[in-house]
Amino acid sequence: MHPEPHAELLIRNAGHLVVDTSYEIPGGWVAVRDGAVVAVGAPGDEPTADRVLDAGGRLVTPGLVNTHHHIYQNLTRSFAPAIQGSLFDWLTTLYPVWSALDEEASYVSSYVGMAELLLGGCTTSSDHLYVHPRPGLVDAQIKAATDIGFRFHATRGSMTRSVDDGGLPPREVVQDQDTVLADSERLVGAYHQRGPHAMVQVALAPCSPFSVTRELMVATAELAERLDVRLHTHLAEDHDEDTYCLETYGCRPVEYFESVGWMSDRSWVAHCIFPDEAETARLAAAGVGVAHCPSSNMLIGNGTARVRAMRDLGLPVGLGCDGSASTDHASLWLEARTALLLARFTGGPGALTSRDVLDVATRGSARCLGRDDIGHLRPGASADLVVWDTSEVALAGALTDPVEAWLRCGPSRAWSTVVAGRTLVEEGVPLLPGLPDALRDHRRIAGRLQAVAV
Ligand code: ZN
Repeated sequence: MHPEPHAELLIRNAGHLVVDTSYEIPGGWVAVRDGAVVAVGAPGDEPTADRVLDAGGRLVTPGLVNTHHHIYQNLTRSFAPAIQGSLFDWLTTLYPVWSALDEEASYVSSYVGMAELLLGGCTTSSDHLYVHPRPGLVDAQIKAATDIGFRFHATRGSMTRSVDDGGLPPREVVQDQDTVLADSERLVGAYHQRGPHAMVQVALAPCSPFSVTRELMVATAELAERLDVRLHTHLAEDHDEDTYCLETYGCRPVEYFESVGWMSDRSWVAHCIFPDEAETARLAAAGVGVAHCPSSNMLIGNGTARVRAMRDLGLPVGLGCDGSASTDHASLWLEARTALLLARFTGGPGALTSRDVLDVATRGSARCLGRDDIGHLRPGASADLVVWDTSEVALAGALTDPVEAWLRCGPSRAWSTVVAGRTLVEEGVPLLPGLPDALRDHRRIAGRLQAVAV
């Protein structure tokens, strides 16, 4: 074998390298140039490099990809007045609190939330920001991602149907359709990067069938087609949604989704717990992706997506942590472990393996976001990877399968997280100079918001 050409960064001495779940190299290495993987290989064949990250025999995987989140909700984590009750109860308690969101709150909550994601092994995240009491909130999120160097898929969320129009949210957090569409187009024009290795993309994301009008769903799908960007929303999360759709639109949620022009491979949806078998088959045939959010499903206590059946149908299933006020944490490692446990609890021991779940959290999630350059480490991929410490106490005795051990035992935190070839977590510590100030500001802002409810 000829040595590979000189690299900018070499991650060497992995105990086990997962290039993707069908290509694993014991003792492997990854060479990086210009933020992308240029080569992988077995020990003894390493290229020279400007910088070396010695994995020290630890597990190396592709970075995990988060397909559903509401980062701003970390300002109302574990918020006592909202922790009991149904999804609709929870939302109606929190909408007035979130109406105090402003640009600073959006920036600071994003900065802190992205640090949390990096520590849980996430290198790309989408975010669904659907509360817009003031302008500029998505811009502030993108600024936080850019300041950190985090790969970010913003979604321009929206709500147009307030309680006055038969919807759920109060008037102060909804907008009119023209405002939503104009701001969506502005954000795509200002920030959406096309092609491989994009660091920022923008998708369009009305909140749910019970918070926007039919006209906005239709107009958003048309705008996404014209701008060639992706579509995201919540779908079939709750039985209350079935009732709402039947009473309001005379059909079930998936039928409604289809009738407004969203049944396409441009769309990925959060939760998708309650489609029946025929509806699931239609979603799969259309190529609609599903963001599976197991912790949120379990905390809301209302059923979960049938991940195994969906994957068997070829439907792209990714992993999501959902908002920090419904899940109250944002670790994709923990979310992956929960997905493993929940699948086996509901579907028996043959339902999913740890490799299946790693595939969901990487390539499955990437498919949901419309990307083939992330979620794996084959040459040409973005250099987004995680080193997991396999010498922790919790892994003592786990000798036979490093990938099964990764979800069954731990570690729960990344030892090193690399995004686009830049190390953002090193030996378990985030390399984010703005984090101490952001945490201090976060505490002040969270206190201000939560005082609204008192
Ligand atoms: Zn959600």
